[in-house]
Amino acid sequence: MIPLKISCNNTNLLYNRRKRNSTIYSSYGHIPKLYSGKTFEFGGIYLEKPDEKTIEKLLNYAREARENAYAPYSGFKVGAALLTDKGEIFKGCNVENVSFGATNCAERTALFSAVAEGNRSFTAIAIAAGDETILPCGICRQALSEFSPQLCVICAKKDGYKIYSLSELLPHAFDKFTPEEKN
Ligand SMILES: [Zn+2]
Repeated sequence: MIPLKISCNNTNLLYNRRKRNSTIYSSYGHIPKLYSGKTFEFGGIYLEKPDEKTIEKLLNYAREARENAYAPYSGFKVGAALLTDKGEIFKGCNVENVSFGATNCAERTALFSAVAEGNRSFTAIAIAAGDETILPCGICRQALSEFSPQLCVICAKKDGYKIYSLSELLPHAFDKFTPEEKN
């Protein structure tokens, strides 16, 4: 079965979704349209930053989720908390496997839980890995970009956090392809 996303209609939907996002966030080379006063610039991109209370809540949820991480092989525990556009938060942790390729990252665990509950649009994700600040791996950047390419990425550090735009972390994301004609 061909995934819905690559049909003509849904390519339009994808385009519209990105167009809709552009009213909130600017993208490279565009004059920023400020959505509210709570914006900040990151590498030429303006995005809406969640308020400090929300950021703190997301960081706490990410740290909580980290407690449940299953990381007997690396010992590297990670937690994530993903905020939907409806204000719901979904937690995730890394889940390792003796067959390393079966391991899942915290960010994707949170994403898949949220999608399984019918969510398709996200505002921010917080990631916690103890004192060490980490950024999402390439696979997670791609997975998150599928739904919210302008996601606000909040990375916990020992005292506070660092904040990024997903489009800054994953420029030129793979976001469409043309299916070959069926024989
Ligand atoms: Zn990852």
